[in-house]
Amino acid sequence: MLNPSINVHDISQTPFAHQRFKVYTARQFDQIPQLQKLPEEQRFDMRVVASVLPFRVNQYVIDQLIDWSAVPDDPIFQLTFPQRGMLAPEHFDRVAQAMRDGVEQEQLNQIIAEVRAALNPHPAGQMEDNVPHLNGEPIPGLQHKYRETVLYFPSSGQVCHSYCTFCFRWAQFVGDKDLKIAAKETSQLLDYLRAHPEVTDVLVTGGDPLVMKTRNLRACLEPLLSPEFEHVRTIRIGTKALTFWPQRFVTDEDADDLIALFVDIQAAGKHLAILSHYNHWRELEPAIAREAIKRIRATGAQIRAQGPLLAHINDDPAVWARLWQTQVELGIIPYYMFVERDTGARHYFEVPLVRAWEIYREAMQQVSGIARTARGPSMSSHPGKVEIQGVTEINGEKVLALRMIQGRNPDWVQRPFFAQYDEKATWLNHLKPAFGEEKFFFEE
Ligand SMILES: *Cc1c(COP(=O)(O)O)cnc(C)c1O
Repeated sequence: MLNPSINVHDISQTPFAHQRFKVYTARQFDQIPQLQKLPEEQRFDMRVVASVLPFRVNQYVIDQLIDWSAVPDDPIFQLTFPQRGMLAPEHFDRVAQAMRDGVEQEQLNQIIAEVRAALNPHPAGQMEDNVPHLNGEPIPGLQHKYRETVLYFPSSGQVCHSYCTFCFRWAQFVGDKDLKIAAKETSQLLDYLRAHPEVTDVLVTGGDPLVMKTRNLRACLEPLLSPEFEHVRTIRIGTKALTFWPQRFVTDEDADDLIALFVDIQAAGKHLAILSHYNHWRELEPAIAREAIKRIRATGAQIRAQGPLLAHINDDPAVWARLWQTQVELGIIPYYMFVERDTGARHYFEVPLVRAWEIYREAMQQVSGIARTARGPSMSSHPGKVEIQGVTEINGEKVLALRMIQGRNPDWVQRPFFAQYDEKATWLNHLKPAFGEEKFFFEE
């Protein structure tokens, strides 16, 4: 069905018709036809959750990705639509009661703000310790945690085509300026990079930078191609567009321009890596999703896949094995399996670390070495990215073997360490050092 001879610059040859981007936010909840068939009680529950956590879904996800006959268990429904369990019972009851009582909007907003504040909106020191400074001034739309890589949040990329219910950046999308990371202009990024020749990678992230018009994205990225930024070797774009709006690369009005931008970045000698978020192999099934992958690959850009392990969505080795295998077949490199972060709806999605490692291992065992490139399960915690390497026994003590694969301090990178075995722990702060030690090495 797909035409292998497609010239990436000639969109007229694609068999896909242009589609208008149609999106629903919490306010248009009741306009989604499929939801009208659900019981009123379930819809009320969803409205309560959507008043606290961000909600936004588009017609493509509704029509092409969700299997409505399997709702509510369908993984893509769980990925995009609010569920009652996503709020702790005390938070849910508080908001639900206020809504039933019809309290004044101002009072309701206050309750919602309090619930949000209790959900650890900015985990792992994002607001305090990752924001870099230049001449003593903080640069609000940048994060620089690991020596080689600067994260850049262009302000017009701080939404997504649809929101993920588990999103660890959910606080970006609830309309509170104090909670938001966003750069107004590129000039501060450029000044910072001039002062930091050790930075080899710029990761453009959000939100989703691929909600931006190509001309705006080009304005952000083109300056990096000039000789003074020779030290920036790799440009990474973090995106969920390959899942939520593959039309972005195929049939959008500026899809060809985007593809041309990818070509230009590489013509300037940079490596371009599309860091694509995937949670389920189903996201790779639609023909247009595969066409988008093909067009990106035709530019020479590399697509790497990452995403968290999530209860209700993908806590099953068979799902990961099929995801990785399909990615490899489509020319995507599996890159990271993350542990769900300690924020937002984490209690709904979290999987114990020991179980996460079992799922990772069982999935790895089902694929060949080519598909075993995903690192993980990895916790993006305050000191760094911590990988769970497995459960073992040392001198009669059952332990979790861990490894720091990224560190706030570069000297920590690739250090192995050990924690007491704990079947219930879901995050680094639940773990205690093994062998009777007081502290982990990075706490000293
Ligand atoms: C994961 C991450 C990176 C990139 O790490 P790699 O291992 O190089 O992919 C950079 N910055 C932050 C804050 C991260 O969480």
